[in-house]
Amino acid sequence: MRLNIKDTFSKQLPADSDTSNNPRQVHHACFSYVTPQSPENPKLLHASSEVAELLGITEADLSTPDFLGLVTGSQILEGTKPYAMCYGGHQFGNWAGQLGDGRAINLTELEHANKRWAIQLKGSGLTPYSRTADGLAVLRSSIREHLCSEAMHYLGVPTTRSLSLSLSGSEVMRDVLYNGNAAMEKGAIVARVAPIFIRFGNFEIFASRGEFETLKQLTDFTIQEYFPGIASGTKEGYVAFLQEVANRTLEMIVHWQRVGFVHGVMNTDNLSILGLTIDYGPYGWLEGYDPNWTPNTTDKQFKRYRFGNQAKVAHWNLYQLANALYSFIDESEPLEAILDSFNKDYQIQYLEMMRHKLGLQKGVDGDQELISKLEKTLQLTETDMTIFFRLLGTISLKSDALNSEKVLDIIKEAFYAPQELKEEVLSSWNSWISNYLARLNQEDISDTDRQTAMNKTNPKYVLRNYMAQLVIDDAEKGDVTLLNEIFELLKNPYEEQVTQEKWFAKRPEWARNKVGCSMLSCSS
Ligand code: AMP
Ligand code: MG
Repeated sequence: MRLNIKDTFSKQLPADSDTSNNPRQVHHACFSYVTPQSPENPKLLHASSEVAELLGITEADLSTPDFLGLVTGSQILEGTKPYAMCYGGHQFGNWAGQLGDGRAINLTELEHANKRWAIQLKGSGLTPYSRTADGLAVLRSSIREHLCSEAMHYLGVPTTRSLSLSLSGSEVMRDVLYNGNAAMEKGAIVARVAPIFIRFGNFEIFASRGEFETLKQLTDFTIQEYFPGIASGTKEGYVAFLQEVANRTLEMIVHWQRVGFVHGVMNTDNLSILGLTIDYGPYGWLEGYDPNWTPNTTDKQFKRYRFGNQAKVAHWNLYQLANALYSFIDESEPLEAILDSFNKDYQIQYLEMMRHKLGLQKGVDGDQELISKLEKTLQLTETDMTIFFRLLGTISLKSDALNSEKVLDIIKEAFYAPQELKEEVLSSWNSWISNYLARLNQEDISDTDRQTAMNKTNPKYVLRNYMAQLVIDDAEKGDVTLLNEIFELLKNPYEEQVTQEKWFAKRPEWARNKVGCSMLSCSS
C-alpha cells in the first residue's frame, strides 16, 4: 500500500505545543498532535472499495495487515503525525465552548488522482477534546455512520465518506437512552474520509475567545485550499467565502429534504464548512411524511432539529458563522444580505426540487400551491414518503380513463393504514390528484420520460431506520451478511433491483417504537 501523504492542515496551521492526550482547554492552536489508542484485537468488518480507490488503495490492499493497521490506528503510517482538531459549537442553540475532536483523530491528508483527502478515525480513544467522555465508539453507531455515509453519497447528497468499519476488540460502556441502564457494548472504529473535516465550530471557537490571529490563519487556509476562485485576505474574499458556504449548505439541505433525511443534531460543530453531511449520529429517514419528526430523543421536547426545520437551522448556524467572520468584514450589510438571500434561495430551490419529485419540468403559476397542498395531504394519514413518490412516477396519462380513483389505488400502497381512511382524507386526496393530473397534462413529456426523470430524483431504496437496526442486530452476533447486502443495495438507490423488492416496503409494525428504529439518542 503506497499512499501519497500530503499534509496541509497540520503543516500550515498552528499546533498545540502539548502533545499529550489529556483532556484540556487548548488555546491559540487549530489542533493537537495525539496518539491513537492501539486497539486490543482489531478486526475489519467491512471496507468500501470505492472509497479505497479514491485514496489509491487497491482491492488487494483491503485484506492486508497494513490496511487493518491503518484503519484501526494500530499502525501509524510513516511520515504522518495524527492530530485532533480544536473547535467549539452551538449545541441546541446554546454556545457550548470548546468541543473539538473528542473521539475523532485525523491520521493524515493524502493526494490521489489530483484530489486531496483527509482520513479520520472515529472511536480511537482520548484526545485533549474528549472532555469527560472516553473517546470511543460502539458498533451500532459505527455501523450507522458507515452505511449512511455511503448511502448518502450514492443518493447524490454531499457527504463525508466511509472507508471502513472495524471492531476494536474491546467493550465500551454505554447508556443508550440515558435512563440509568448502562451496559457493555462492542467497541468499533470507522475510518472516514473527506477533503477536510473543518466545521463551522472551528471558526467560532477562535472568534469566541478573541483569538483573531488564529482565526485569520484558519480562514485564509480554508479559502486557499478549498475555495478556489476566492481571494483570501480581502474583505470581499471573506464575504464571497460566506456566500459560497451558504450556497453549499443550502444545496445540502435541499437534498436532505428531497430524500427524507433528518440529521438529528445540527449543532454548529456538526456542520461542515464544505457543505458535506457530517457526523452521523441520531439521524433518521422519514417513513411517514411528517415535518415534525426527529429521531433524536435528546431533542424530543423542542424538536429543534425536526425534518421541517432543517433549512431554518442551517440559516441560524450560518448566522453564527457570519458572526465569527464579522471581524474581517466589519460591516453587517453584506453578511445580512447573504443570510436574507439564503431564505429566498431556499424557497426557490425547494420548489424546483419538489417539482422534479412530481415530474414537473416546467414552472407554472400554482405549482407552489400544488406542493403545499400535497405536503398537507401527505400528513392526513401516515404516508410513506419514499414509497409515495416512487409510486407517483408509475402513473400513465395514456392509460384508458385515468381518473383520480385509479391514481389513489396506486398510491394507497404508501399508506400505513389504507383500510381506515376517513371520507375527508379520501376527498382531499381525490382533489389533490385531480389537480395534479390537470397539471401533468400541461407538460410536454411522455409517460416514460417523466417516469425516468422522476426515478432519478425519487429513490427506491433508502436506509430505513429499521434496516440499519437489522444490520446491527446481526452484526452484534457476528454476522455481517446483511451488512454486505444492504451496503450493496444502497449503492444503486434509484435502480429497480428485482431481487430486493423486500426493501421497498413500509416499516414493519414491530419497528414503530423500537429503540434504534424510531428512537435514537446522542449516546454512541
Ligand atoms: P456529537 O454530539 O457527537 O457531535 O459530539 C459533540 C462533542 O462531543 C464533540 O466534540 C465530540 O467529539 C464529543 N464526543 C462525543 N462522543 C464522545 C466520546 N465518546 N468520547 C469523547 N468525546 C466525545
Ligand atoms: Mg459531532
